[in-house]
Amino acid sequence: MRLFRASEILGIARDTLQFALDASEETHPNEYMGLLRAEDARKFDLDRNGQVITDVLVIPGTKSDPRSATVKSNMIPNDLKAVGSVHSHPNGVLQPSDADRGTFHKGNVHIIIGSPYGWRDWKAFDSNGDPRSLDVLDVELPEEQFFDFTQDDIDAELRAEGRDPGRSQPDDDRRDGGTFEQ
Ligand SMILES: [Zn+2]
Repeated sequence: MRLFRASEILGIARDTLQFALDASEETHPNEYMGLLRAEDARKFDLDRNGQVITDVLVIPGTKSDPRSATVKSNMIPNDLKAVGSVHSHPNGVLQPSDADRGTFHKGNVHIIIGSPYGWRDWKAFDSNGDPRSLDVLDVELPEEQFFDFTQDDIDAELRAEGRDPGRSQPDDDRRDGGTFEQ
């Protein structure tokens, strides 16, 4: 994994957290697992320096069962700058497992979401597996940040960037993560 130590993470966008809670519930009874991406707080109306978590990316090929989720690290795009991870504990325990602690050194914020996946059913941890604070921020995310891309949207975006839509593979399932084409 190529994760970098970023400037301070201020918090997570409310919509992004909601997305992760919903996805965890949908994945139940299996674990949900994704990587977190952040954007500079200056992009939003926040009078603070740092970064805001705005995206959850599910890596294709991620295998999960009720007790673990495994990301295929060779499927992580080289240019993905993740600030940490999010995963669910279908048993509801909001504590990192020993295995979790073994992976938390990559990135500096790790969210665990537990069943029943409500607004209080999550906690954030640092790279040592110790609890850390993570504000939920009411920031306005651009519409295209979210995950229901159609092929037309993607083609339009590629054209807007002056790229040839023909170069993207129509059934590249990485697109399920939503933001790889940025
Ligand atoms: Zn875990």
